[in-house]
Formats: sequence, structure tokens, C-alpha cells
Amino acid sequence: MKVYSNISQLLTLSGAHAKDGRKLVDSDLSLIENASIVVDDELIHWVGKTEDLPEDYKKIPTTNLSGHIVTPEIVDSHTHLVFGGNRSFEYGLRLKGATYEEIATAGGGILHTADKTAHLSEEELFKTACARIERINSYGVGTIEIKSGYGLNFEAEYKISKAINKLKEHFQPRIKIVRTYMAAHAVPKSFLSSQQFIDELVIPLMEKLQSEDLIDIVDIFHEKNYFTDEDTRKLFTKAQGLGLKVKMHADEMNDNNGAAIAAEFSALSADHLLQVSDAGIRALAASPTVATILPGTALFLGKPLAPARNMIDAGVKLAIASDYNPGSCHCDNLILLTSISAKNLGLTPVEIWAGITLNAAHALGLYEQGAIIAGHRPRLSVFKASTHEEIFYSWGRNLSVKI
Ligand SMILES: [Zn+2]
Repeated sequence: MKVYSNISQLLTLSGAHAKDGRKLVDSDLSLIENASIVVDDELIHWVGKTEDLPEDYKKIPTTNLSGHIVTPEIVDSHTHLVFGGNRSFEYGLRLKGATYEEIATAGGGILHTADKTAHLSEEELFKTACARIERINSYGVGTIEIKSGYGLNFEAEYKISKAINKLKEHFQPRIKIVRTYMAAHAVPKSFLSSQQFIDELVIPLMEKLQSEDLIDIVDIFHEKNYFTDEDTRKLFTKAQGLGLKVKMHADEMNDNNGAAIAAEFSALSADHLLQVSDAGIRALAASPTVATILPGTALFLGKPLAPARNMIDAGVKLAIASDYNPGSCHCDNLILLTSISAKNLGLTPVEIWAGITLNAAHALGLYEQGAIIAGHRPRLSVFKASTHEEIFYSWGRNLSVKI
């Protein structure tokens, strides 16, 4: 058992938790000043004001967190951080106005990453990803989702999923890694259609990985010229039949009715949503599916941000993630991305905090974290700051500390 005492501001988010992360008001931060919490390795035992700490807990070793802010652990629920290569040349072309097709012709795009990833061994992928994970963790992010998807063939996708599993084992329990299988990222040229790719590679490999307990969630890039409604429904039906959770890249480049399909399957999340329709928003609001917005990708590509305010006002549960990847968002700092986009997204402080803690945890099916309440997992983030607003006010400054 440990006691953390004299915490300047403790954001418990118990109010947000009680409302399932929707339609939040300021008081749902459930902020306690001069707070204490009592934890062991597995559970939070007590939360309250330091002056109310029960007598029994006063003999336990105490860490004084005066001058610190404690929040539920920051969760980055959408990354593609296992990859080889570097696409900075492509960003230069993009800044000069090159189109997606011109970048592909110049040797950029996902096929470039797939080629560079193919040339790395499982061990090399593991080592490069370890360094990326440590950097992300240094910002205060303690739970990280990682997608496969730069393999595009059976052997390479299998290798990437094994590397992600090795990362999970290596970092637990300090950093929690959630393993997402996303072979359905793009259709390689060697397949005639997305349907053939789903039938002959994506589903058989998913079955193998599930039988070896190497994956938690299945994802798909549902988009025109990538994967269809039928591909998505077939993959999700198979995945759920195997007991796997599903989520999807939805309505990023076009309104493809993706949000509604995600809601139809009670997917954990629908991600991107730059082009989501009003009908899609209504479908999400009526479902348990989290809307995960990825403002870094829109900023990186010079596109308008997702309609976060409309979604929240409609009763959607909204999360924010980095989408850290080598092509469309080479930024791994979720707090920075949230800071620089929050005002334009129209987010209030409680919506920001729920978006990167409670709702982001729910986007990964982790319902025992994301709020600091007795009986939950003791997954916390700590910042040296005088107020919780200072963390988003100080753009690009890392205020996270380890305790
Ligand atoms: Zn993505």
C-alpha cells in the first residue's frame, strides 16, 4: 500500500465516469484540492481530501505531492508506432503542394513504409518501437494502443503482431500496451480486390493470431478505394465470433457511412470522422461506440478538424488520440496535439481530460481505468503544475513527472 498526499489538484473524473463520458459539465472533473489517494499494485482503495484520510492509512509510507496535479492515466488509443523508415522527404513534397498520387509516384506513401518495415527483423522492430514508447511515456501517457498494418503480406504482418505482443510483455505493468490487428490497412498490388485480400489473408491470419493470443482488437481502413462495407461487415462478424473487439478508421476522406457501421457492430471506436454525416453522429450518440478524433492528422495534412463540438453536443462519447505514424502524423505527443487543437475543436477542459483519459480507455475496452475511484486500477498520471489548465496552457512543455 502507498499513500499519495497533499495533491494540489486531483482530477478524479468520477462525475464523467457516472455519465459514461457524455454531455459533461465542469463539475464532472470531480476535482479535489489538497487530496490524498491510497493504492496498492492492483487497486485504488481510498480517495478524498488529505484532512479526511482515515486513521488506518496514516501509518503507510506517504509521498507528498504538493505542487502536483494527478489525473487518470493518459491513454493514447490510436497509434501505428511499429514501422521502419522515415518519410520526411514526403513531408517536404507535401509542403510544396504534391498530391497523394505524386507522392506515391515519387516513392512515398504506405508502400514505402511497408518496404522499409519488411527489411527489419522482429527484434529490430521491437527495439525501435521501445524507444518510441519510452518517449511517449515521458509525456505522461501510460496506456498505448499499437496497430499492425505495415506488413501487407502474411509473414510481415505476423512478424509485426509478434513484435507488438513482445512490447506488451516487455512493458507491463508500467506501460499498458493494447494490441490491434490491422492487416486491412491497404490492398497490396498482388491481390485483385479488397474482397480477395480479406478472404485469403486478413481473415486467415486473424484466426491464427487469435489462436496464439497475440491480438486484442481488429481494425480496418474503411474508405473508398480501400475496404468496402461488405469487407468490414465480414471481418467484424468473424472477429466478434472469435471473441475479439473491433474498431475502425471511419469517414476520414469521404462520408462512407462508416460511423453508422461502427455503431451497428457496437465497435469500441470509430476513428478520424473528418467527414462524418449528421446521421453518422446520431448513430454514434445512440451506441456505446467512442468517436476518436485525431487532430494531429488533420493539422499535418492541412485539413479542417473533425466536428468535435457537434458530436459532443449530440451526446457522442469523444476521445482524442495521436494517430502517431510515419506518413500522416509524425507527432507522438498527444498532450501537445490536444493543446494546439482544443480551442479550434471547441473543447472545454473537462472534455479534454475525459477525451484523453476515461473515453480513450473506453475506446480500448478498458473500463476499470480512466477515473480515480475506489475499486479501479491505480493507473495515474502526475504533472508538476499549479493548476490542471497549466498542462494545456504550456504548449509543447513536458510537465509530466514520475512518482
Ligand atoms: Zn490510423
